[in-house]
Parts: sequence; C-alpha cells; structure tokens
Amino acid sequence: MTGLFCFRCGPKSVAFGDLCPDCGLPLSFTKTGALEGKGPGIWRFSSFLPEARPLSLGEGNTPLIPSLRLGEELGVDLWFKLEGANPTGSFKDRGAAVMVAVLREKGGKALADDSSGNAGASLAAYCARAGIPSLIFVPAYASGPKVNQIKAYGARLVPVSGPRQAATQALLETISKDPQIHYASHNHSPYFLAGLRTLAYELFLDLSEKSPDHLVVPLGGGGLFLGLFYGFSELLALQKLSKMPKIHIVQPEACAPIVKAFLSGKAEPDEVVPSETVAEGTRIPKPARGAEVLWALGRCQGKALTVSEEEIIQAQGELAQKEGVYVEPTSALALAGLKRLASAGEIKEGERVVLPLTGSGLKAGGGRC
Ligand SMILES: [Zn+2]
Repeated sequence: MTGLFCFRCGPKSVAFGDLCPDCGLPLSFTKTGALEGKGPGIWRFSSFLPEARPLSLGEGNTPLIPSLRLGEELGVDLWFKLEGANPTGSFKDRGAAVMVAVLREKGGKALADDSSGNAGASLAAYCARAGIPSLIFVPAYASGPKVNQIKAYGARLVPVSGPRQAATQALLETISKDPQIHYASHNHSPYFLAGLRTLAYELFLDLSEKSPDHLVVPLGGGGLFLGLFYGFSELLALQKLSKMPKIHIVQPEACAPIVKAFLSGKAEPDEVVPSETVAEGTRIPKPARGAEVLWALGRCQGKALTVSEEEIIQAQGELAQKEGVYVEPTSALALAGLKRLASAGEIKEGERVVLPLTGSGLKAGGGRC
C-alpha cells in the first residue's frame, strides 16, 4: 500500500486536507521504499516519503550513543538517540521538513499552526527556509524560549486570549476566511507524521540493521510513537526485521488521557482536565490521534504508564549528571518510564532499549507543543 490511509477505514484519496472524509480522523501516509538511498539526513529515505523537492536544514542523522551508567544500574543495554541535535533542537524537525516540502509542492502560499512549543518553532524555521510566510496561533499567556524562537524565525505570532482551545478556534476561523492560508497541523498532517517515520529507519541502520527490543517514548499528540510504529512496521513488511520492537508510552500523571483509556480497555481516549506539569509537550487533554495510538499500542505490545512530576525531574537530572545529556523535562519522561518498566519486569535484563531524547534542555521553560 502506498499513499494516504485512515487506520480505521483504509486507503483514501484527498487533494488537500488531513482528515479522513468518512470518519474525520487524521490520515496517515505509507510508502515502502529502499534503505540504500542518498541525500542529506532524512532525505536519504526519500523513497519512503511523499513526492516533494527536499527541504533541508540538516535534520536527521542524530547521534545514537550508548549509556555509560544508567543502563548498568537498570540491567539493560541502553542507548540514547539525541534528537535535540536537530536544527531547531527537537525531533519535530523531521516532521516539519517533510510537511513544509509537500505543502510547498502543493502551492501553499502561507502556513498556519497552533503551537507555542517545539512544533511551532520547527514550522517557523522550515517556512523561513522555504520562503513561505507562517502564522503561529498561541494562547496569549504563552512565553518563554520557544516563543522567542518562533518570533526569531520571522513567523507572525497571533496571541489569542482564553484557554488553549481558543487558539485552535481562532486559527480555523482565519483559515476559513482566507483560502491562501493552509492549515499545517503537526497533530493532523499525514506528511508531518511521514517525516517522523525516518527515526525508525535511522535507528535500524544505527544498530547495524537490527531493531531494539524496546523503545520508551513520551506521549503528547502521539506523532513520535506513531512515526516509530509505522516506520518499524514498514521494515517488518520489507522483511528487514523478524519482529516488531515493543514501543511503550509514558505520560505525566498530570495529563494522561491515553494511559487512562489503555488501562480501562477503551478504544478512544476521553478528554481529561490537565493539571500543571513540567512535561509541557505532553499536556494535550485529548490527542487527535488518540484512537490510532491505542490501536497501534496493541499491535506492538506496548505498555502505557504514568510517572509523577518528581520522577520526571529526577530523571532529567540523572540524564545530565550521570550521562552528560541535557534534555527538556518532556524528554525525561522516557527514562522515568523505563525505570518503572524495568522494576516491574516488563523489560528483562540485558534487553536492548532505545530512548529517543526528543528535545534539548536549552529549550526548556514556557510554551507548549
Ligand atoms: Zn476513516
């Protein structure tokens, strides 16, 4: 299968737009290519990506480094994929590069998204690179290094009073009045998700054409998890892998709609009322791809678990002090989750575990994905 599909309804064809015309859920993209391609960073996997002229700031090709202390403490073969080394400091660059490249090809004159976090910064950077104006709708209260980064790339920042949802509403109203502005949604776009799949191909090559036994990832909108799931699924279909890695997801206790649904056996998450958390990138009360995440978790035998604020802060400190890796608190969810999984016996001694460390600690503070 190649092209757009809805995990629930099957293959779909839409010219513009990100949602399934039948059920309204966000679409995904699949294309099975060859791993031997050439090109910079993620674009060496262009045979797996939608047709588009590459747009690059050097995203991808991030370092995979072995743990020197924490792995031994936990009794596992632990590796870190340093996604903070991407051009804007987070894994979102993989998605934004592909999404902006595709929308440029489709003739998008201006792109808009609602994010005061890593996704907004990434979209603003790639729009600047492509010479396309960008509009980023943010809650009026948003501030901090990520908002400053968005502004620095020349994006038009549109502050909206009221709750987070008001920014999305204002964006949709603006787009409905101006057909020149295209909604470049990091949570809905199948092309953004397509770019995130490159993380799986890269890990497979980094590990000498093997997959890890487990990956543990923070979960907000679900893009990182689904990118890994679809990427490894395609390698399985190509018979490059003999089995799927188990991909586990971690949410903060303060905002855990997917974990709640997973533990109660539901196919869709209910909206939760989040409380404050240092893991700002995961503060999403009802992820648009929630049902797709729950479906995929079952297929890769992943677990879903929560961790406390104290565990997140402790894990962030341990990564910096025991490994020399400075991540933002959202990224530290992965280590906090791994510690719980290892002590519960879900990950066995000596098994190979990869933690994608999603964003640089230099970006911490303020803003939300
Ligand atoms: Zn559908």
